This record gives sequence, structure tokens and C-alpha cells, in this order.
Amino acid sequence: MTYVVGVTGGIGSGKSAATAEFEKLGITIVDADVVARQVVMPGTPCLQAIAEHFGNQLLTEGGELNRKALRQRVFSNPQEKEWLNKLLHPAIREEIISQLEQADSPYVILSAPLLLENGLEKYCQRVLVIDAPESLQISRTIQRDDSPKKEVEAIMKAQLSRSERLKKANDVLNNDGSLEQLEQQVLQLHQRYLAATVAQEK
Ligand code: ADP
Repeated sequence: MTYVVGVTGGIGSGKSAATAEFEKLGITIVDADVVARQVVMPGTPCLQAIAEHFGNQLLTEGGELNRKALRQRVFSNPQEKEWLNKLLHPAIREEIISQLEQADSPYVILSAPLLLENGLEKYCQRVLVIDAPESLQISRTIQRDDSPKKEVEAIMKAQLSRSERLKKANDVLNNDGSLEQLEQQVLQLHQRYLAATVAQEK
């Protein structure tokens, strides 16, 4: 059985920075955000269903999903939003499982901002939380995205609180220091996960 480590953390906590380090060590990363885009690429059953339901004006000239138009359509319409979620959530789940099964590194990482909120931890042997003080989450995100503080705070409100998330962690990476410190912690965790993978095979 594939040994899966779920990686999560609030916006700006350093998930991408951490998973990039695991990737350098040869570990396959399955990223829920990437999967969410893959399932609506041109030619997919989901994109076809969306076009049939909402009309072709939801597509760009190149035949891709116009995300902004879709967001506007479901933004203030709970029924349409539910329809969309019922279509996308199972498709995303299926694709995540398939990518986890196909991964061929000693263990595999499932990275998702909403891992715990969406119940994806059930596919994981361990949950690693990337943790940083909220003030750092905000300042790093503002610097990365050039987005207004209010927007970042709104996203944080839709995510689990820091303490709730930490309660569900098996491992915690404290990302309140330098990038070198992050790298060191990733190396230590990597050794532990490799050992756990070997133990599981015995
Ligand atoms: P997430 O994926 O959790 O939203 P990122 O990994 O993108 O967060 O990190 C947010 C921003 O902060 C990025 O620009 C990243 O390079 C930077 N960052 C992350 N960790 C550190 C750190 N320990 N020191 C300095 N900058 C960091």
C-alpha cells in the first residue's frame, strides 16, 4: 500500500515551500489544487458537463474553462454552487486517489490547503501541518500575491483555525524561521517517513 503523507496548512504557512523541498528529495507530490484544475481541462467529462449546464459562455475562445465567469455564476447562487460541488468533488477525489496509486516514490505527499476541511486525511497515513503565526501567514501572502490584507484574512476565515488544525496534526513543521530551518525540518521528516515506509513493508 502506498504510504501517504498529507500536508496541509493555512494560506501562506509555507506548504508550497515545504513540498518543493520534499520534491527535491525525489518524493512525488499530488497537489489537490493542481488536480482541481486538471479535472476541468479541455476534453474532460467535467468541463463538458459544465458547458452543458451553464452554456458555452463559460468557456474561453480556446475552449478552456473561464473560471472567473464560473465563479460569478455560482457566487450568489447556492443551488448552482451545490450542483458544481456535486460534480467536481467526486471527480477530484477519484483523480487524487488515482495519482496517489500511480506514484512510485518511497512515500507520496498529498498536499491540500483544505485537507482536513474536506476529509482528505482519510487517504493519509500521517498528517503533517505546516505551521506559522497568523501574522506571518498574512505578511508572506501579501508579499507573494500582492493581495489586500482583507482578502487574505477572508481566506483564512474559511479555513480551520490554527489551533484546530494543530489538534489534528501527527507532525508539525514550525515555519516561523528561515527557509534553511524549513529545509532542515523537511530533511528530518523525510528520514522518519522513509523509516516508517520500510516498517510498513515488513
Ligand atoms: P502556502 O503554499 O502555504 O500558501 P508558500 O509556500 O507559498 O505558502 O509561502 C508563502 C510565501 O512565503 C512564499 O512567497 C514563500 O516563498 C515564502 N516563505 C515560506 N516560508 C518561508 C520562510 N521560512 N522564510 C521566508 N519566506 C518564506
